Amino acid sequence: MSYQHILDGKILDLPVGKVVCVGRNYAEHAKELNNPVPTSPILFMKPSTAMVALEPGFEIPQGQGECHHELEMSVLIGKSLKNADEAAAKNAILGFGIGLDLTLRDLQNKLKEKSHPWEIAKAFDGANPLSGFVSANRIANPEHIDIELTVNGAVRQKGNTSDMITPVFKLLAFMSQHFTLLPGDVIMTGTPAGVAALKQGDQLVLRLADEISCAAQVF
Ligand code: ZN
Repeated sequence: MSYQHILDGKILDLPVGKVVCVGRNYAEHAKELNNPVPTSPILFMKPSTAMVALEPGFEIPQGQGECHHELEMSVLIGKSLKNADEAAAKNAILGFGIGLDLTLRDLQNKLKEKSHPWEIAKAFDGANPLSGFVSANRIANPEHIDIELTVNGAVRQKGNTSDMITPVFKLLAFMSQHFTLLPGDVIMTGTPAGVAALKQGDQLVLRLADEISCAAQVF
């Protein structure tokens, strides 16, 4: 079955739109890849075909070098946003979740060296495994919440959304100046430090505080 958005355990009658992502939104992650900390959010997109369910597992591309996990809080958009302010952005959020911005790192590095767009390293089919979402009203403060990824029982990525360079509501407002956000779109909010390669058979647990815990296997 193809991917559908889930909110509080129920399949939503909502289109599966685009994914708008931000690069280097946590300073420690920018540093670990030897990238400068940006002065303005670096945006990129993934198409609807990148979205897949995180559970019970997902596939990673083979024969294209390292595929890195980037653990990120995800945001499900419920109302149209264009040139929105932070209050409107906050009001348009239907739910929060957790997901992976999968990245073919070797390929991305080669593309970056040539100053080429990095789409094929980030926007391929299945490049955005997502948990189900929980209703926005269940998350007391999305701008201060823990996210964590364990791989085979060891903590790989651990962060708090309060460490984002551009916090959630401001980020959505900024995105909406460039791309109209529509109901069914998903926002990926950037990854904390600790990105590394995945391999087939890895057992992952992704957590958004005590609200979401997802177990996923890499196929
Ligand atoms: Zn990312």
